[in-house]
Amino acid sequence: MRIFGRYGFRRLEFERPVQVEPLPTRSARTAVAATPGTRGRVCSKADLRRSRSPHRIGTLNACSLDACAVSVCRRVQDGLRCKSAGGQPRTPKDTVRNSMQDGTRRTDAGLSGWHHVPDVPIEVSPFFGWPPDPKRMLGWVAARWLRLAENSILTVLALVCWLWLQPSLEVTKTLSWDWIGALFLRNLALMTIVAGGLHWFLYRAKLQGNRLKFDPRDLMVKGRQFTFGGQVRDNMFWTLTSGVGTWTAYEVLMFWAMGNGWVPVLFWSDNPIWFVALFVLTPVWISLHFYWIHRALHWGPLYRLAHALHHRNVNVGPWSGLSMHPVEHVLFFSSILIHVVVAASPVHILFHMQHQALTAVTSHAGFENLLVKDRKQLALGTFHHQMHHRYFEVNYGNLEMPWDKWFGTFHDGTSDAHERLKDRRQRRP
Ligand SMILES: [Zn+2]
Ligand SMILES: [Zn+2]
Repeated sequence: MRIFGRYGFRRLEFERPVQVEPLPTRSARTAVAATPGTRGRVCSKADLRRSRSPHRIGTLNACSLDACAVSVCRRVQDGLRCKSAGGQPRTPKDTVRNSMQDGTRRTDAGLSGWHHVPDVPIEVSPFFGWPPDPKRMLGWVAARWLRLAENSILTVLALVCWLWLQPSLEVTKTLSWDWIGALFLRNLALMTIVAGGLHWFLYRAKLQGNRLKFDPRDLMVKGRQFTFGGQVRDNMFWTLTSGVGTWTAYEVLMFWAMGNGWVPVLFWSDNPIWFVALFVLTPVWISLHFYWIHRALHWGPLYRLAHALHHRNVNVGPWSGLSMHPVEHVLFFSSILIHVVVAASPVHILFHMQHQALTAVTSHAGFENLLVKDRKQLALGTFHHQMHHRYFEVNYGNLEMPWDKWFGTFHDGTSDAHERLKDRRQRRP
């Protein structure tokens, strides 16, 4: 059953089909209305009027009236547990209301140990589902490309770098410390601004407090497992040395090869539609590549050699995203090598590499969204990957391709998924 909420598409899924009835009588409705919310919110009569159709239940959930939505949901479903109130695309301008007054919103009370749990079950890209759902597809693309979102910001950033901060292919034809050093400094500055800025905003100045923070704990000030004895120092070191270094090295390799005609170069005039499509397809390719590289990194020897360094971070912050062993950096950024065979422009190379490096930062921010004046401005961390850091053997990929679903490693944030994970662990010899 699909429900279109106020800010986008929402999905309510029930464990079995149910006959949804309107709330029976005025007195019964008043009784529900009088039920105090778990966070002090009482359903208004207007809320209940809206709740008379399943469509409106979605709206209630979308409005974040947790207590209200739960009451109505339980009543209408006659005891059936509502599995989901999620499925919406990220909503950067979503107003933060009642349930976030204490910084939390839990639509699945069964998943404990978290400070903030977003709407669950977590939804993956609709482009791989059947039957096709054009409206959800449109919503998915719009949320990522037509609003203030990572993809749209990174496209503008790549264009700016291409126009004003990028040597021509004539220059990159010959290796020289001048332009290589300039690329390194540019990438160092970008990383410092994004990771440092987010870290300052969220963890130093704490400008949004704990609101929308997934893990209740702070980052570790001290820890013997970390380089230099502290999580942030450790993460900054690996990010700014090997991380930015490998990122730059791949860019140098690609621009040098392009300058010399060793790899195909795409110009706008060759095929404008494909030129634009490459931007849209890049995150999908990255998703495919990331899943398989990440699965490989969890193979014992490779894990101990390389990936264990990234998993020192059970709770993550912006600097954790690119805090990896050099071997992992080489594998992680190797997605760019697709352009040895698929023609691209330097701006695509910039977008691809900046996407890899900078969304690693945002996806580990530890907060679901950036709040400014109580409004969601920019979707950040994914609870999906946050769970990978805590539960370890789930969610190897990201949400652009449902590899985890296809291979049975998907934790969608619900208590049901968590029970399945616990079962798997218990059955293991
Ligand atoms: Zn991992
Ligand atoms: Zn991670």
